[in-house]
Amino acid sequence: DTTIGILGGGQLGRMMTLAGTAMGYRFVTLDPTPDSPCGQIAKQIEAGYDDVQAARELARQCDVITYEFENVDAEVAALLERESSVPQGSSLLYTTQHRLREKRAIEAAGVRVAPYREITSLDTMNAAVSELGVPCVLKTVTGGYDGKGQRVIRVAAEAEEAYQELASTGAELVLEQFIKFECEISVIVARSTSGEIKTFPPAENIHVNNILHASIVPARVATDIQLEAQKLAAAVAESLKAVGLLAVELFVAADGRLYVNELAPRPHNSGHYTMEACATSQFEQHIRAICGLPLGDTTLLSPVVMVNVLGEHLEGIIARTGQPDEEAMELGVIPKLHIYGKSEAKTGRKMGHVNLLCQDVEEGLQWIEQTNLWRHTNS
Ligand code: ATP
Ligand code: MG
Ligand code: MG
Repeated sequence: DTTIGILGGGQLGRMMTLAGTAMGYRFVTLDPTPDSPCGQIAKQIEAGYDDVQAARELARQCDVITYEFENVDAEVAALLERESSVPQGSSLLYTTQHRLREKRAIEAAGVRVAPYREITSLDTMNAAVSELGVPCVLKTVTGGYDGKGQRVIRVAAEAEEAYQELASTGAELVLEQFIKFECEISVIVARSTSGEIKTFPPAENIHVNNILHASIVPARVATDIQLEAQKLAAAVAESLKAVGLLAVELFVAADGRLYVNELAPRPHNSGHYTMEACATSQFEQHIRAICGLPLGDTTLLSPVVMVNVLGEHLEGIIARTGQPDEEAMELGVIPKLHIYGKSEAKTGRKMGHVNLLCQDVEEGLQWIEQTNLWRHTNS
């Protein structure tokens, strides 16, 4: 009888709990939000992520601890490692919490990243812009998500303003060359406590307003590039000695070169397609990896398009998928709806997703067009 503790009670924790409960595990989540998405189906300790007393209580109640976000407080991570078991370890968090450390770790695995410079002053900024050229992207090294904490510099004259703006936050900064990519893909790789590694098929990711909109699998890139991406993801996971899931975001350049953009040491939105489309879901795989079970088969069972349901899409999508859907049947698309149980359907907030199982991904994309729900965001 094993109890798994999850730091964070959002949708990723909820879907880990759904998968792990089916495998016979019990779950406790630590989250400050009353009745969090995960807390609705697991036991919840209602407290802040940096609450040392609450973390100690989580450690007392659980045999194994994992997390659903990467900005775990260092003191809390150390305490949990001491007082319970955190198979993923705190060094993976230490690396992936910080873009510069992360890039150096990727390079140490022999994998390409966009050329970059550490920025510590306006002088280093100006020098870096002329070395890397424009366009380039200035990013805060910590804390960024959904494109927050980033400025694209299209002409050198924009460098100073971008620098002043991000430097004023007090964060460390990194400047990256802008990769003119053909498309963005991601690979979810799992490495278990025994060192076994398995990768899922790459997803092609479409972003709208810097938020993931859709993932398309198989990705519409050449098979040898897909295999190369899986090989690189496995090499990064092995080199980092990662345990659990590692999501690897990559750019595919016009010449076919792959650049790793960033990593996430957890289940990833672009891996939600695995829930119905693969023999094993990313959530089951994560539980298997941290509990030392053999990893599951990652074979793709069907082409699939995953589309995110934001607050503004929620009502429409429930109506749309809750009744027999002639258009979907005509297209040969089977929509599978997942709703996270969040209380307020705010605009832009991730409320759920739909996995569209299809014969061909173009039909899934056509279904999305025809629903009209996402039309205004599809540009
Ligand atoms: P996430 O929500 O995925 O964690 P984030 O805020 O950490 O996002 P990134 O993934 O680094 O940000 O960048 C967001 C998006 O901006 C990328 O998906 C890509 O479209 C674009 N982008 C970022 N860096 C570069 C780059 N060096 N070259 C080209 N495009 C880039
Ligand atoms: Mg990120
Ligand atoms: Mg990203």
